[in-house]
Amino acid sequence: MTSTHTHDVDATLRQIDALVKAGADLVRVAVPSKPDTDALRRIIPACPVPIIADVHFDVQRALEAVEAGAAKIRLNPGTLSDKSKALSVIAACKERGVPIRIGANEGSVVDRYDAGQRSRHEQLLAADRRAGLVRIMVDRLTEYVRLFEGHGFEDLVLAAKSPDPLVVIDAYRALANTFDYPLHLGVTHAGPPSTGRIRSIAALAALLAEGIGDTVRISYAADPVYEVEDAVELLQCLGLRERRRPELIACPTCGRLEVDLVSLVEQVRERLAEVDAPIKVAVMGCVVNGPGEAEGADVALFAGKGKAVICVDGKQVRTVEEGEMLDALMDEVRRYVSR
Ligand code: SF4
Repeated sequence: MTSTHTHDVDATLRQIDALVKAGADLVRVAVPSKPDTDALRRIIPACPVPIIADVHFDVQRALEAVEAGAAKIRLNPGTLSDKSKALSVIAACKERGVPIRIGANEGSVVDRYDAGQRSRHEQLLAADRRAGLVRIMVDRLTEYVRLFEGHGFEDLVLAAKSPDPLVVIDAYRALANTFDYPLHLGVTHAGPPSTGRIRSIAALAALLAEGIGDTVRISYAADPVYEVEDAVELLQCLGLRERRRPELIACPTCGRLEVDLVSLVEQVRERLAEVDAPIKVAVMGCVVNGPGEAEGADVALFAGKGKAVICVDGKQVRTVEEGEMLDALMDEVRRYVSR
């Protein structure tokens, strides 16, 4: 999802371009104001991927986004004070064949308008917070789904996000058991990548490995390119997406090291960002366990005392001095890719 003001068309297009280059297959943009939905008319035709309009509070924005050509509308009925207003969006999306993603996120599921419902929700949460939240999320989505289905609309995607990975895992398992609709996975408000990465991957990997989930967003308080890079890596690691970019494996380091491997690995990672091919590169700290651990690498470097051996397809091709390791490895990577 972009973090720019969508009405700043140039900045938004630049960010969408960066997200697509990082591997995004679809991009969501926020449309809180009329200038934002007006901007969609310039953004959508200029984008190589579908653009999803993220709507909160004001259904008028959803109607304008549909009119502007949005590929999907993300609507959180929990943020609409008058649910009947969703009907006009249903009609517009039905007419244009635009799917709607409806979410029951932790932050908006507890009823704020109906005192009876609110009290029931509070009781459920007091008895067992995680189980109560999951129950409320599923109940909420059931209520929304009935509303949409009741008006002949079934082009739905469902989501039930939380900042708590255990709630996310339980909620999506429950959704998968309850509904046949596609599920959009996410751990919301995960924080910065340094902590949010573990929080997000813990939940999403568990669900994806069980075959649950159709689209994914990782949410960080950071440049959204990090979100896409991590989501793509996760899907590739789980074999759910073909690898199109280099894969770097490196030894975890130990007392046998005789070079600054951590720094070398970081430099290789940076240089591999320029390589646009699914090559597997290994950077190992020694030849003791290195060859076995690097098995399967297309190009591998084994560092030693003042020297390094480079192998291509498991065969030794050259020995270089420590100061030449990085450039020599990248030369072999480029040669391999051009082959
Ligand atoms: Fe240690 Fe060598 Fe294994 Fe790296 S490859 S962890 S240096 S034994």
